[in-house]
Amino acid sequence: MERKEYDESKVAEVASHFEAILKLIGEDPEREGLLKTPVRAAKALLYATSGYRINPTEVMRQAIFSYNGSQMVIVKDIEFYSLCEHHILPFFGTMSIGYIPDGTMLGLSKLARVVDAYARRLQVQEHLTAQVCQEIFTTLPAKGVIVSCTAQHLCMKMRGVEKQESATTTVDYLGTFADDPALRAEFFAAVRN
Ligand SMILES: [Zn+2]
Repeated sequence: MERKEYDESKVAEVASHFEAILKLIGEDPEREGLLKTPVRAAKALLYATSGYRINPTEVMRQAIFSYNGSQMVIVKDIEFYSLCEHHILPFFGTMSIGYIPDGTMLGLSKLARVVDAYARRLQVQEHLTAQVCQEIFTTLPAKGVIVSCTAQHLCMKMRGVEKQESATTTVDYLGTFADDPALRAEFFAAVRN
């Protein structure tokens, strides 16, 4: 089960730091519009990093079932929101996951939960993609796993480093997907449609 996103003493402590930051950037934390901002920002940050308090292996183990199928299972366009570990600014997008079963299957909603468990941390897109791939490969376990992730990074957009419409795609695969390019092509054809 998902644990509580934050406890009140932690919210208060993080909020006190946000209040200090507001002063440092030249704001007045006492003005009306900002009175509740430190607490709101603390809750938002703790929610955006709630993945630290979720064990993805445990989440998966709640919904692993025996399954005789041998063909690829694909879940497309799982939405995620993460924070880049370099600037603590959002990056967000979608992840598509394919796996080749090895006697077991995973409850489909758990794939999204595993994505959230890794996305709601300070991350880089490459690690996020690799961690989701490795977790499913190891915990299910599967004969092969492939993960494709496309995201937009506010740290690049807001600072003008990136053209506004560009996106970053990362891919990782393990097992049979590493051995067989035709299998990877089948996955990409399926997620493109
Ligand atoms: Zn960044």
